[in-house]
Amino acid sequence: MAKTRLMMLGPPGAGKGTQAQRLSDHLNVPQISTGDMLRNARRSGSELGLKAAAFMDAGDLVPDDVVIGLVAERLKESDAENGFILDGFPRTVEQAEALEAMGVKLEAVVNIVVSEDEVIRRLGGRLSCPNCGASFHSEFQPPKVEGICDECGSPLMRREDDRPEAIRGRLVAYNAKTQPLVEYYRQVGVLREIDGVGSPDHVYERLLKAID
Ligand SMILES: [Zn+2]
Repeated sequence: MAKTRLMMLGPPGAGKGTQAQRLSDHLNVPQISTGDMLRNARRSGSELGLKAAAFMDAGDLVPDDVVIGLVAERLKESDAENGFILDGFPRTVEQAEALEAMGVKLEAVVNIVVSEDEVIRRLGGRLSCPNCGASFHSEFQPPKVEGICDECGSPLMRREDDRPEAIRGRLVAYNAKTQPLVEYYRQVGVLREIDGVGSPDHVYERLLKAID
């Protein structure tokens, strides 16, 4: 039987969101991202939810214990009874330990492995139209005329943080934060590493095998 209490890891550009969404539909378990959860916290009306909202309203980072409490509340909801896919949480070893201390045991932590060069190729090729918002990719989805929007004829732009130096910086930050977590889950024995190179269909096949 496929494992259903999962967490996804992977650098920007690894296709983590796409894969998690697909898996969520397939397993019929919710994909739980910290961002969505915090945005919904206020609506939940719970004591913790309101506490989180107060931090966000003040422009402050929501402290670990509040985030962890919210995750625990979210995992008790009926749609998560048969499993869940955590996305963006835990972020640190401390959060991972706290999650475990609350009795939440992950069955598999899937790390989508993609080389730095491949991430730069994927993110660095993204182009968008500042006029109509259409998006292109210099390699995977090139516009008919180089540098020009198919839809409206405006010159295409590359986002500042998609420039190679910026991408390298984002990867350094990601690795520094995530590596201890990877090691933690390796020791726990639930880490599954899959090759993120290839078409989304191929990566998804590997993902299904990894959680089987
Ligand atoms: Zn356009």
